[in-house]
Amino acid sequence: MTKITHHLTEDLLMGYSAGTLPEAVNLIVATHISLCDACRASLDAYDAVGGVLLERHSHEVSEACLAGALDMIRKGETSATPAPRRGCDLVPAPLADYVGKGLSDVKWRPVGMGVKQAILETSPEATARLLYIPAGTAVPDHSHNGLELTLVLQGAFEDAEGRFARGDIEIADDDLEHMPVADISQDCICLAVTDAPLRFKGLLPRLAQPFLKI
Ligand SMILES: [Zn+2]
Repeated sequence: MTKITHHLTEDLLMGYSAGTLPEAVNLIVATHISLCDACRASLDAYDAVGGVLLERHSHEVSEACLAGALDMIRKGETSATPAPRRGCDLVPAPLADYVGKGLSDVKWRPVGMGVKQAILETSPEATARLLYIPAGTAVPDHSHNGLELTLVLQGAFEDAEGRFARGDIEIADDDLEHMPVADISQDCICLAVTDAPLRFKGLLPRLAQPFLKI
């Protein structure tokens, strides 16, 4: 397994721990954590802080409420969350619920130049999509109105920020203009999350934007 060199920010780890992130951002953070021991360790530290805060702010629960809850558990009436689906080699567990059995199930839509995407169903504050970038292909130069997070699942890409391979996450904000180019050796598959429309520089990509839905 290749070593992960591009990690989550403190803000994202904290937001994930606090449960305040939009669903799409939550998904990409959870997927990175499932691949990255370093970020999982940092998350444990934040969760411990949250635990201490909870203890300090403990509220009294009425006897009746407690008895009712215990009763429900005994009768098996709690809304049991289904066991997380097991991920395959390429699709880590947190992503498996959104993708189906595997990448072969994904309904890709072509967005030009051989690039394909599949938008995943999440709450609307941020958008999650899978991107399929054929080996050696460049994604049009673009900048962002908000945050763009890109996690590599297969292959690798390179831009001004460096080289990103499986497990690496790129965090691009308003200021960054970049043109990711996929490695020549293998098609690149990424999970990408945006919280605002991308702004493309060139005219053609801008015309294509309504079709890309980004
Ligand atoms: Zn990490």
